[in-house]
Amino acid sequence: MAATIIDGKQLAKTIKEEIRQEVERIKLQGGKTPHLGAVLIGDDPASQSYIRSKVRSCEQCGFASTLIQKPSIITEYQLLSIIKELNDDDDIDGFIVQLPLPEHIDEEKVTLAIDPKKDVDGFHPVNFGRMALGLPSYLPATPNGILEMLKRYKIETSGKHCVVVGRSNIVGKPMSILLANKSYPGNCTVTLTHSRTQDLAAETRRADIIIAAIGIPNFITADMVKEGATIIDVGINRVDDVTAKRGYRLKGDVDFENVQSKAGFITPVPGGVGPMTVASLLINTLRASKKEVYD
Ligand code: NAD
Repeated sequence: MAATIIDGKQLAKTIKEEIRQEVERIKLQGGKTPHLGAVLIGDDPASQSYIRSKVRSCEQCGFASTLIQKPSIITEYQLLSIIKELNDDDDIDGFIVQLPLPEHIDEEKVTLAIDPKKDVDGFHPVNFGRMALGLPSYLPATPNGILEMLKRYKIETSGKHCVVVGRSNIVGKPMSILLANKSYPGNCTVTLTHSRTQDLAAETRRADIIIAAIGIPNFITADMVKEGATIIDVGINRVDDVTAKRGYRLKGDVDFENVQSKAGFITPVPGGVGPMTVASLLINTLRASKKEVYD
């Protein structure tokens, strides 16, 4: 039987509409308009397109947004000054600095300079630590979007075996913590796998839920998947294709065509986790504006 396809695009649309209606209510009651700041350094086309989509989504939901664009020759000191201004600006509820940054800028320094109260990407160690302890925090956007998908598709997670493939600080590692937390979605028995894992297929074959965040197209094949498993594909890989208008296609980390017939639920690429990541950022910004996480 073919899997249920988790429609991240539609789900993100629904969430954005819910947020738009809430923002409208807040404004009618004289409350504060949520305001997201976004910093883009350089002219990387993928980063530009991500930032554009985030700013456009803000507008669709009735948020205010401030986009600060600077050339890649900006110094680290200048960028840290911009971050300080955003930290001190009372109207900005939260802001993001689009990664990756040019090589001469230390990403860690930049992440640490962001006030945790405004860190709506959830990358600051204070937010990561609070997340790990199950305290109120801004959850990193991609893992939060995945939790939202599991919740809205009513996928059972309690007691299930979840195998996360990839241990990045923004996806794999936080995902493994969140799914092990005592909550719904959560209460999973989690195995966090990575490039040094021996016999990865033996691990994934035991999984009720697989989260693939590797960055290698079609890496998870049908023989690595248990019948009826839930497959969440985080990967966004550009694969050359002369028949495509842009000369490439986006492919996930999962061999969708062949895994689809074996899985219970599966996310497509594009149209799966990607749009949910943007929706999560809006959720965090609204929470920041309502001071739900920090006073
Ligand atoms: P990353 O690129 O920082 O790291 C890749 C991870 O994969 C590492 O932890 C590594 O140990 C693991 N890995 C590499 N080769 C492996 C192998 N042979 N076997 C097992 N594990 C292996 O990870 P990332 O930043 O989480 O990105 C992963 C993918 O997700 C990329 O394609 C990225 O573009 C995509 N991504 C998508 C979104 C979204 O919104 N959909 C957000 C973030 C990242």
